[in-house]
Amino acid sequence: MPKSKKKIKPINSTPQTAARQSITRPERIIISPIGDQDPELFRLISREINRIFGYRTEIKPLLKDVDFALDPSRNQHYSTSILEKLASMASHQAIKILAITKVDLFIPILTHVYGEAQLGGKACIISTHRLNEGLGASVSKTFHQRVVKEAIHELGHTFNLRHCRDHTCSMHYCRSIKDVDRKSDQLCRYCLVLLNDAIKRLAKK
Ligand SMILES: [Zn+2]
Ligand SMILES: [Zn+2]
Repeated sequence: MPKSKKKIKPINSTPQTAARQSITRPERIIISPIGDQDPELFRLISREINRIFGYRTEIKPLLKDVDFALDPSRNQHYSTSILEKLASMASHQAIKILAITKVDLFIPILTHVYGEAQLGGKACIISTHRLNEGLGASVSKTFHQRVVKEAIHELGHTFNLRHCRDHTCSMHYCRSIKDVDRKSDQLCRYCLVLLNDAIKRLAKK
C-alpha cells in the first residue's frame, strides 16, 4: 500500500498584515534614504513595510551623510552611532525610523552587518552595500527582494522581535547572502503574533 502523505493545511489563513487598525492612526514609519537612492526601490520598501507592519509610511531623508560614523582604520561605518543620531531626530509622529544607506556597516565584534536595530527602540538601519553579492552591477529583482527582507528584519527588532529559528521567516538571522535568499519576505505565524502584541502595546501608550 502506498504511504499516504497527509497534506498539512494551515489552521487558518495567516493574516499577513499586523494590526489593521493601526492604518488609521497618525503615527508612521519613516523610511529614510541616506544619500542618493533609487526612488523605485523606496516605493517598493514603503509598500512592503506597510503590508507587514500596517503603519503608514513616509519617505523622508534625515541625514545627508554618515561621515561622522566612519571608522578610518576599518573604512566602514559604525552602525550603532548612526542609530543613536537617528533616534534623537525622531518626531513624536515617527513610531519607527528605518534608514537605508549604501555604505558598509559594522559593529565592533563583527566584520560587517547587513543592518542593526535598537531592540524595542525607535531606529534601525540597513546597508545595501553587500546585498548585491553575486548579482553584478545591474539592478535586479533579487536585489530588491533582499533589501525588503532586511528592512522587515531590522524593523521587526524595533518592535521587539528576536531572531527566529524558522529559516524562511524574515526574522531569521542571516550569516551570509545565501541565508538572505533562502528566507522569505514574510513573518512566520509565531513572529506575527508577537508583532501584533507589540503594536497593541504601543497603541495603549
Ligand atoms: Zn537581526
Ligand atoms: Zn519567525
